[in-house]
Amino acid sequence: MKEHEIIDKLREYFEENYELMRLEGGHALTEDVKQLALTQVLYYYNKMRDVANKVTDTEVKLTLPEQITQKGRNFTIEGIVDIVRDDDETWMYDIKTHDTDYIKANKDLYGRQLNVYAHIWQKLRGQPLDKTAVISTAYPAGLKRAHLLNDPFQIQYELSKWEPLVDLDFDQEKVEEIIADFAETVDCIEDKKFKPAPVEVLKENLAGSKSKFGQRICRECDARFSCSSYREYVLGKGKGSRGNFRKYFDDFGSDTAKEEWANANLSARDINTINPE
Ligand code: SF4
Repeated sequence: MKEHEIIDKLREYFEENYELMRLEGGHALTEDVKQLALTQVLYYYNKMRDVANKVTDTEVKLTLPEQITQKGRNFTIEGIVDIVRDDDETWMYDIKTHDTDYIKANKDLYGRQLNVYAHIWQKLRGQPLDKTAVISTAYPAGLKRAHLLNDPFQIQYELSKWEPLVDLDFDQEKVEEIIADFAETVDCIEDKKFKPAPVEVLKENLAGSKSKFGQRICRECDARFSCSSYREYVLGKGKGSRGNFRKYFDDFGSDTAKEEWANANLSARDINTINPE
């Protein structure tokens, strides 16, 4: 397929996926946010074209059934990966929406999951594996800024320093320990033990990020209004607890999320006004 045909196909798939997600999730995007999302896809393709062309198996479902927890509960581990095979090596890729810096700073966390997938691939499927890696699909802030400024030189510079692919070592000796951790989590969920992270953790900067846990993770968490740690984090922050109290109950998400929501609903209202049923 020629390059321009691939780009056309990407645009077509993007539209189809967007419509599907809009109908399933009920969330609409404003036209400018949607176009920005499309540029993320196109830059990502530009950067990962070589890997994309070499992928031999996409969305391979890996399953590790019949696992038993300490309390005798049965569970299954499942994951989806991409595989690249050439004459010399086989690579396994796990695709994440998190940014590269965060993945690099938390290699152990991401490696644990890939270790289990590598185990399933090699031991249960009997397939060879040489390397594992995570691919970050997050839009780098610098590239997004350069795109919005329409600065071609800065775009080229940002593209050249973007490294979406993060190599991770896999260590099969740790697999049993990792599966035991999964099992412990299953028992906690089934026993309804949902203890939030302590407030001290919410105040700490996340590894590989300048944002605090309470800002970056909790602001996106639907359980935050019933979470004692988040309440303490917001209400206990700084002076003027009355102001914080109000802020806590008026928190409808980040400024960007609120703006997108408002704009999308305004657009929907305009359409309804023009075309009343
Ligand atoms: S708000 Fe959500 S993510 Fe944050 S500590 Fe509470 S439960 Fe965990």
